[in-house]
Amino acid sequence: ALAGVVRTFDGHGRTSDGHPVALLANVADAQGADAAVAAGAEGVGLFRTEFCFLGRADEPNVDEQVAAYRTVLSRFPGRKVVVRTLDAGADKPLAYVTADDEPNPALGVRGLRTAVEHPDVLERQLEAIAAAAAAEEADVWVMAPMVATVAETEEFVERCAAHGLGTAGVMVEVPAAALQSEHILAHAAFASIGTNDLTQYCMAADRETAALAGLSTGWQPAVLQLVAATCRGGAARSAPVGVCGEAAGDPALAVVLVGLGVSSLSMTPRALADVAAVLASVDRATCERLAYEALAQPDAVAARSVVRAGIPALA
Ligand code: PEP
Ligand code: MG
Repeated sequence: ALAGVVRTFDGHGRTSDGHPVALLANVADAQGADAAVAAGAEGVGLFRTEFCFLGRADEPNVDEQVAAYRTVLSRFPGRKVVVRTLDAGADKPLAYVTADDEPNPALGVRGLRTAVEHPDVLERQLEAIAAAAAAEEADVWVMAPMVATVAETEEFVERCAAHGLGTAGVMVEVPAAALQSEHILAHAAFASIGTNDLTQYCMAADRETAALAGLSTGWQPAVLQLVAATCRGGAARSAPVGVCGEAAGDPALAVVLVGLGVSSLSMTPRALADVAAVLASVDRATCERLAYEALAQPDAVAARSVVRAGIPALA
């Protein structure tokens, strides 16, 4: 229901007054990378590498990993590809790193936390990412999932540097990381907000529980406050902040995220055209005003309706 806007995407996301917003794709494999290219994605904002590992009883060796990563990198010569290190645990258990007796897996040893007990798995993955990056022309950025502290950030960035991976960042999916983003971004080159998990942990609502869908939305003003805090941390350190959760693929919410200061949006390839069209229909000052209004609302329903009413293409 996009009134009066042409749904085409020429590969350059921007507002109507020319403020650039990189529109990137979330991919997990070669087919996803092909879909991203076909949809005009400027690059990849989230390469979910755990999908190369899921369903396996044992860890793929470095050569197998290099081959899997190269299939995605090869489709984006000269373009940014943000490779996320293994995000195992909770909704994505992996036989060889995930304990099966955790009482509360979503709050357990998942994401980067698995590297404490299995540092070798992360080492081999970074070795494979570095080899794949050296063999391809893509501009490879690396980021860790489920980072909560500055110390985790420092250690991850150091380990990346040891492999020659110079652009290392973190996902902001834990409210603590959003609130500490200025300190985190003193070490990390960038942050990418995972709104799916950030919403889950902000609202204390399991993202898999359909009955909690009303709580589990990036329109929650409390979630938007955490996005705003992350953007303030990024601005203080001149570090880019992107969003790679589902929120980035909701055109009206994308307008709010840009207004809060996010400089790239990464989404499922099929969402790119609508997000590009709606962004191109509003100027940056409108994004900022609507973001301010959304933050001021008492709840998610009110935030969504006030923003949609302020976007002629969606009203
Ligand atoms: C997120 O949590 O928003 C995210 C992008 O990561 P995933 O959905 O893979 O957990
Ligand atoms: Mg996540």
